[in-house]
Amino acid sequence: MPERRPIRVLPPALMHQIAAGEVVERPASVVKELVENSLDAGATHIAIHIDGGGVRRIAVRDNGHGIVPEELELAVTRHATSKIAVLNDLEKVNSFGFRGEALPSIASVSLFRMASRAQDQDMGWKVHVDHGEMCESGPDPLDRGTMVEVRDLFSNVPARRKFLKTEPTENKRCQDAILRMALARTDVRFTLTVNGRETMNLPENQSLRDRLAAFWPPAIMDGVAEVDAERHGIRVHGLVGAPRTAQGRGDRILLWVRNRPVQDKLLLTALRQAYSGRLLSKEYPQAALFVELPPEMVDVNVHPAKLEVRFSDESSVFSAVRSAVLSALDRGGVLAHPRRATPDPAHQTMPDPASETRFREPPAPSFGRDRSKFPSYAEYRRGPGELPLTPPDPASLSRQSEHDRVSPPDGEPLPASPVPAFASPEIQQPRQAPEVGGYRYLGQVSDTYLVLSRGADLFLVDQHAAHERVLLHNMRRQRTRGDSQPLALPLELPLHPSEAQELDRLWNDLRAAGFRLSHARPDLLHVEGIPPTLDSAKAKEYLRSALDSGASGLEELWTMLSCKSAIKAGQPLATDEALALLESWLVCPEREYCPHGRPTVLRWTPQELEKLFKRK
Ligand code: ADP
Ligand code: MG
Repeated sequence: MPERRPIRVLPPALMHQIAAGEVVERPASVVKELVENSLDAGATHIAIHIDGGGVRRIAVRDNGHGIVPEELELAVTRHATSKIAVLNDLEKVNSFGFRGEALPSIASVSLFRMASRAQDQDMGWKVHVDHGEMCESGPDPLDRGTMVEVRDLFSNVPARRKFLKTEPTENKRCQDAILRMALARTDVRFTLTVNGRETMNLPENQSLRDRLAAFWPPAIMDGVAEVDAERHGIRVHGLVGAPRTAQGRGDRILLWVRNRPVQDKLLLTALRQAYSGRLLSKEYPQAALFVELPPEMVDVNVHPAKLEVRFSDESSVFSAVRSAVLSALDRGGVLAHPRRATPDPAHQTMPDPASETRFREPPAPSFGRDRSKFPSYAEYRRGPGELPLTPPDPASLSRQSEHDRVSPPDGEPLPASPVPAFASPEIQQPRQAPEVGGYRYLGQVSDTYLVLSRGADLFLVDQHAAHERVLLHNMRRQRTRGDSQPLALPLELPLHPSEAQELDRLWNDLRAAGFRLSHARPDLLHVEGIPPTLDSAKAKEYLRSALDSGASGLEELWTMLSCKSAIKAGQPLATDEALALLESWLVCPEREYCPHGRPTVLRWTPQELEKLFKRK
């Protein structure tokens, strides 16, 4: 049994360290607290410096109202705040802070310096607190405003340091925190310097759209629609992305309630519902949405980091958000990009909702006519400049014919409409049908599916899904080789700030893929070597989409790229094109599913066909 110890009140430094666990989780939380304090102080310019992922140093300088010398020590004392005095204030608090615990918490786990000069003072004052111990105070030559510097974060709590991620990741989190505050306060000027390099300079009094354009790539900004609607006293405003620019990750969904950044399930669900029918289940829209409502309708005091909120009337909030976004999408020109630009009789005979979602993407208008975009069979074999399809390995082709590699569709019920199409005369020519990898190619139906037979079995291959699989396979193979082809003339790629940030994150992956890059200036990328399988135009396109994709790593990048570059559904294929595709697809691993996990191929045995025709 452990020895009984007397109960004691904890020494203040330890108390602060424990409390710091709640408020100060990582460098980004420090940045958030300091910048919020500057905003609460009425600053119109906030300059932020981050070094070493924020662990080495975070400094925030503002031109706000400052703190008088006699109160500066209080500012770093627990539960000392200028923002609320009585409990009643708590309900209608408009400032970001009000708990009075951020500064003492931060100061307890770092080397903390704060200097401030209040508006009406002719002298500034400073305090130094090391790991929670006040160690210096005195006059400071600072101009009006406040400067806080936090060095060596968590140097006295090594356990917490272990939870931190790499420097680029912590940097990104800091920048994300700043992004959210900068978008909520477009009236304030923000500058950010990371490791001595200025990465953000947002002027005063920008529009939300202009400010967001510093973070989101033009491809997304071009399609955003404005939201502004009020219902049941709840105003919802901001910008939402076009369904066609939806992405595989939800990191461009930014929500605020009464100007505070939140992550709230209710709001997210309402947003998604507004997009329903316009997105695939795995896609996320972009949104920067502000919900304004009277203070008594929301409790922002639920979570210490204040990311969660509680609404008194959830259903009103839900319907306000949903309807505001819905009407923006309907009105905002987003539907000017309809699911299908032109009605196509072949597709109208296929009301299957699964195929409908595939046609939802706006068709590349000239793709059908411009054959050059889809390489001919001969180009396939040669290995064209695009991500080339390699000639099939003969060994695996013969293996293919020995074994039944294509699995049945697990007794899934089939839509009734495609079945009669099989009887169309153009595909009933088995004797002349060309062979590929032991299969007979019978033709294309609906400009989307390739019809095959082997023995007595019938197969339908989705051309888009199959091509995605082929492209992904090729990209993976190239990656493992990691070769690079030097360019005689290096390419120059101007970088948007959001792309520069992505570049830092994806740098190693891009190298592994064969890119040799140098980041000469923050806004310019030099490409000195590219994977040998790309030409320079494709390499440029590739890099651009890689940096705009928000991908978590190269594997995800490949998947998205394979989808983007793959031939679309609804594209007529000449026989040699179809054969080339099938030939490459048949040697791919995991060929039965596309990279997103949808089936590439369906198969029916004679028994299954008999059942479908109710012969049995
Ligand atoms: P809170 O923000 O919850 O009040 P903090 O610990 O963050 O608690 O700050 C304590 C107090 O210090 C604030 O209430 C405010 O009066 C003062 N303060 C902090 N940062 C600044 C700043 N940048 N400018 C002016 N006053 C500040
Ligand atoms: Mg605060």
